[in-house]
Order: sequence, then C-alpha cells, then structure tokens
Amino acid sequence: IAFVLGGGESFMTQLLQNYGVLAGEQVISSLYRFATFLQGKKVVHVNSTREGGGVAEILRCMIPLMNELGIETHWEVIVGSEAFYTATKSIHNALQGKDLPFTESYHEVYMETNRLNAERLRPLLEEADFVFIHDPQPAPLLSLCPNRKGKWIWRCHIDASVPNRNIWRMLRRFVSEYDASIFSLADFTQRLPHPQYLIPPSIDPLSEKNIVLSEREIDETCLRFNLDRERPLVVQVSRFDVFKDPIGVIKSYRMARKHADMQIVLAGGGAADDPEGAAILEQVKNAASDDPDIHVIELPSNAHRTINGLQSAADIIMQKSTKEGFGLTVTEGMWKYKPVIGGDVGGIRLQIINRFNGFRVQTPEGAALRLRYLLAWGRQRKRMGQNAHKYVRENFLITTHLRTVLALMINLSQ
Ligand code: UDP
Repeated sequence: IAFVLGGGESFMTQLLQNYGVLAGEQVISSLYRFATFLQGKKVVHVNSTREGGGVAEILRCMIPLMNELGIETHWEVIVGSEAFYTATKSIHNALQGKDLPFTESYHEVYMETNRLNAERLRPLLEEADFVFIHDPQPAPLLSLCPNRKGKWIWRCHIDASVPNRNIWRMLRRFVSEYDASIFSLADFTQRLPHPQYLIPPSIDPLSEKNIVLSEREIDETCLRFNLDRERPLVVQVSRFDVFKDPIGVIKSYRMARKHADMQIVLAGGGAADDPEGAAILEQVKNAASDDPDIHVIELPSNAHRTINGLQSAADIIMQKSTKEGFGLTVTEGMWKYKPVIGGDVGGIRLQIINRFNGFRVQTPEGAALRLRYLLAWGRQRKRMGQNAHKYVRENFLITTHLRTVLALMINLSQ
C-alpha cells in the first residue's frame, strides 16, 4: 500500500504497517490523510508520570505514532516533590467525589511546582501549535505561559461526574482558559465555556498485554497457576477493589457452578501498598475458602504478559464492577475474542452490547444466569467473542483513538 504525502513521496512505515494489519488499512490511510493537514505543526503532551497508569500507557504508544506520521510531537512530564503528589492525589480523589480537604499548603505546593515546571517548559509550550495537558496535575501551566501561540486542550481521564465542588471550582479557573477539553464519557463532562470532546481510551494491540500469544505460552501460564485448559475458565482481572465486586464474582460462580463445570480466576495486584486492597484481598480469600476451582492470583504491577495469558486462556471474561471509569479490562478481553459479562455501569455500557458481544448485569444472580448460558452454548459464545473482537477493532484501538485526536486538532486549527 502506498500513501502519497505532500511532496509526492510514497511510503508507509513498518510500524504503521503492523498496526494496519490489525486495525485495518482504512484507519491507517485516514491517519496519513489527516496528518497531511498537520505537517509542520508542533505538538506537546504534558502529564505527570512516564511510568504506570493508563495515561502513560496511551502516551507511550501514541507519541511515536504521531512522529511516524510526520507530526513533531514531544512528551514532557512535570516533576515535583512528594508533597506535590500528595496534593494532586487529593485533587484526583476529590474529583472522583471523595470529600477531602484541600489545604492552603496543598494549594501552595501545587502552584509552586507548576511555576517551576513552567520556567523549564515555557519556550517549548509557548511556541507549540497544540498542547495537550493531561489531568489536573499540570493544569495551571496555561496560566503561566502568557505568550502562548497554539491551541491548548485539557484532557481529563478521570471520572469527574460528581466532583467535590470546592476542588472543581479551584480547578475550573484554570481549565476554563483552555481552547477545548476532552472527557472519556458524556457522564464525566462539566459545564465549561469551550468545546468539549468525548474520546474514549483505547488499547494498543501491539503491546505485551494484547499481542497474540502462542498456544504454548498460554498453556504455560495455565500450568503456572494450576489451571486445567481442558475445563471451562472464567477470568476477572482487576485491582482488589470493592467497586470491582470480586465477592459478587464468587457469589455468581457458586450459583452457576451447581449447573456447569468451571474454574474461576480473580487476578490482580496493588494490594501490597494499598491498605484497602489488602483488606479486600483477605475477604476474597475467605470467600473462596478452600474451593480448588477458585484461583485468587496476586500479580506484580508489570505482569502484562501473564494477564495476557490468563485473558487468552479464558472462555469468558468477567468485569462485574459496580462503578467503572472505562474498564480497559473489558476491552482487553474483547480484543482476545472473548464474550464479557460486565457490570451495567460507566464505560462498560459503551463497550458491551447485550447479547451481541457479551452481557451487562446488575446482580450476582444475573451474572450466574449469563455464565450458565454462555457455558452451555459454545457456538453463541464463539460468535459473541468474534463480535467482541470486531467491536474493539472498530472502536477502541489506539489507531482509531489517534484518528479522532487528529480530527480534533484539524478542527481546532481552522
Ligand atoms: N491491570 C494490571 N494489573 C492488575 C490489575 C489491572 O496491569 O493487577 C491492568 C488491566 O489489565 C488494565 C488496567 O490495569 O489494563 C486497569 O484498567 P481498568 O480501566 O480496567 O480499571 P482501573 O484499574 O483503571 O479502575
């Protein structure tokens, strides 16, 4: 395939070719076409960490792709003391609705850290054509770059549907000055005096978590955790968090198990450094008691390939959340051709179309019913899994995500 860029040169990079095989050539060709409108533009993304968390994952993959398309794109990270991260964690939690104090000293360290980072980044930021500021940590940077030339976009990755009012009022002062903002879901938007765009997150099909593994590696993963590949397997991957409802998963398994053979995996990490997580993990272990078919698996934070192996081995993926931002584990399972039984909340509603690629459920009873159905009807399970993969391919891959971002940039520059 050849794509003709401005100078009449025909090429397609190897990386984009690889994405093309998975995402479809059409998406890649529209990426090239959109990129022609943005040649010569300079873009900067700013967030607060290079490692860990969904934002860093997305940037790590998206920024090389933008550069491959000939759009000069930089990734800058603001740096601060521990006090800064404590203050911004408080903002983060308050935006998710927790009632937290934001003290004068928090405010001071928040502003001072942004001032120091602005000193360092000002030349780059002021001359950029587009600046994407991710989440609240670097939000004040715009007010500290008075000679900005380009368009600035605030990208909110947080479920800010019911924010703490005082914190939102403080943050809104900064965010209002931006040219646009992006939220993941309509429910998360706020009243702001500029255009708001809805762009859901995405997965990278070439990452360790999502590449196609060999059957041998999947077998080895199962062997490592004592899972029988000859018997049906249901998997839920998530932090041990009350809103992920692991106890509900076990309840539904117990109900369905009376009628159908199955093993169930609850895999996740984050419990070691999270007192709440450790307590939930304890409850889960108690609820599992000594049932050999309930596998509670603790994982380190970089267990991407293991998670891939477990999701790939599964017959059904569960994500029985009672609250959910987007639910990337749903996307990951669907990409691996699995039907997903998910809680009827947040971004799961955007992904699971009932009976087409999975089932949305409200209760453990509902989940048990769907487990039984999917285990009994292998052909339906397969068909729904195929629909699930296709749905992710069409809607939630990094390439589609990038295409929407480029479209937004073209719109804003006109
Ligand atoms: N994840 C992981 N290790 C774990 C638990 C989750 O790497 O122990 C990954 C999971 O594969 C997904 C992301 O972390 O990519 C979780 O995103 P999701 O939107 O499902 O939930 P969140 O944790 O953000 O509420």
